[in-house]
Amino acid sequence: MTHVFHRQIHADYPTAVAGDGCYIVDADGRRYLDASGGAAVSCLGHSDRHVIDAVVAQLQTLPFAHTGFFTNRPLERLADMLTTAAPGPLDHVYFVSGGSEAIEAALKMARQYFLEIGQPARSRLIARRQSYHGNTLGALATGGNQWRRAQFEPMLVDVSHIAPCYEYRDRAEGESLEDYGRRVADELEAEILRLGPETVAAFVAEPVVGATAGALAPVPGYFKRIREICDRYGVLLILDEVMCGMGRTGSLFAYEQEGIVPDLVTVAKGLGAGYQPIGATLVHDRLYDAFRDGTGFFQHGHTYMGHPAACAAAVAVQERLTESGMMPGVDLRSDQLFAALRDRFGGHPHVGDIRGRGLFIGLEFVADRATKAPFDPARGVGATLKKAAMAEGLMVYPMGGTIDGRRGDHCLIAPPFIISEAQVAELVDKLAAALDAVLPEAKAA
Ligand code: PMP
Repeated sequence: MTHVFHRQIHADYPTAVAGDGCYIVDADGRRYLDASGGAAVSCLGHSDRHVIDAVVAQLQTLPFAHTGFFTNRPLERLADMLTTAAPGPLDHVYFVSGGSEAIEAALKMARQYFLEIGQPARSRLIARRQSYHGNTLGALATGGNQWRRAQFEPMLVDVSHIAPCYEYRDRAEGESLEDYGRRVADELEAEILRLGPETVAAFVAEPVVGATAGALAPVPGYFKRIREICDRYGVLLILDEVMCGMGRTGSLFAYEQEGIVPDLVTVAKGLGAGYQPIGATLVHDRLYDAFRDGTGFFQHGHTYMGHPAACAAAVAVQERLTESGMMPGVDLRSDQLFAALRDRFGGHPHVGDIRGRGLFIGLEFVADRATKAPFDPARGVGATLKKAAMAEGLMVYPMGGTIDGRRGDHCLIAPPFIISEAQVAELVDKLAAALDAVLPEAKAA
């Protein structure tokens, strides 16, 4: 009997005992190709000496110093690195221990900013239906994933949800990408006007949607339009790059590809690459200046913020990500992986869409390719695929997104950036075997 309260109480998890590059090894010596980086976390694989040595060295000199008393060197250095790398005047960073905490900090910062500048009526948030921003109550209220929210609805603050940019499902026949992007972005304006612009604090969105819709990238111009609308009504734009940031989509920040500058950006997973738990909220100068010239105090904090060992890990991760060759390597492997996936599954009767950016790729499964009808949720295609893949020695991240109020099945592929060409081929072979096990009728066909 285990004394651990596992999230899935009846799941029979193997015991992970070692990490080796792109693989995790279990207690029976089985090797699993980590094609999802856990949940888009392990961008450098599981045995990066540079990061490990940095954490060990930090623990040997200063394991912890509470930020209520001290700043510390890795904390200051990491802030320098991230703000130098982030395009636009996002020159300040607030460090926390994970993605949900980064979102909570961003939401509260948005709210307090409006108090600092004398607009106390602004507290409302707008987000999108197919989105996930974390599991703490504020973050959960912000996300639109109905399956994750359902049990806690009575405890959630009232956040408005507009349509996501979900071209595969929602673009009308004959509608150009540009017109589609404008149409869905304009839902933001309609909602701001409905609520009353003077009450709206922020709009929150993932530049490339991860855990709810499987690497949904926006159409060209969508975020430019969103930025214009936010500016028109004095609403802050919070971009959640917890999953899609830190190089995952081919640029360090995903928003770089949209030609806009947000007011707040959250990052986490790839920031510590799994070597330490860490998250961060990058803050536009305009907001920081309001706090500095106002109360000089942000009414929010956690014990482990700015943890020296976590920051030391993230500094070492940044050093690796900015090495020449690392980001071009993401582009190269992305091209190879997309080509291999399209070659193998492009004609699969139950793979409706293969999409994403960089090494952030989603497969959407459908019962019928022509009608795009999702599978009956009772069949649990996503969950059984995870099991079948593990049996093949492959980790992919399954998802039950919500499509038109119903669950749909996706899987997310987000391998370490160090994946080799041979491992790309191994990934696709193992995924094909797992899909055959889950959807035997397609194999027969
Ligand atoms: N935002 C996004 C976009 C995420 O994908 C996640 C985690 N999947 C979170 C926030 C929450 O992060 P964490 O699990 O570290 O709290």
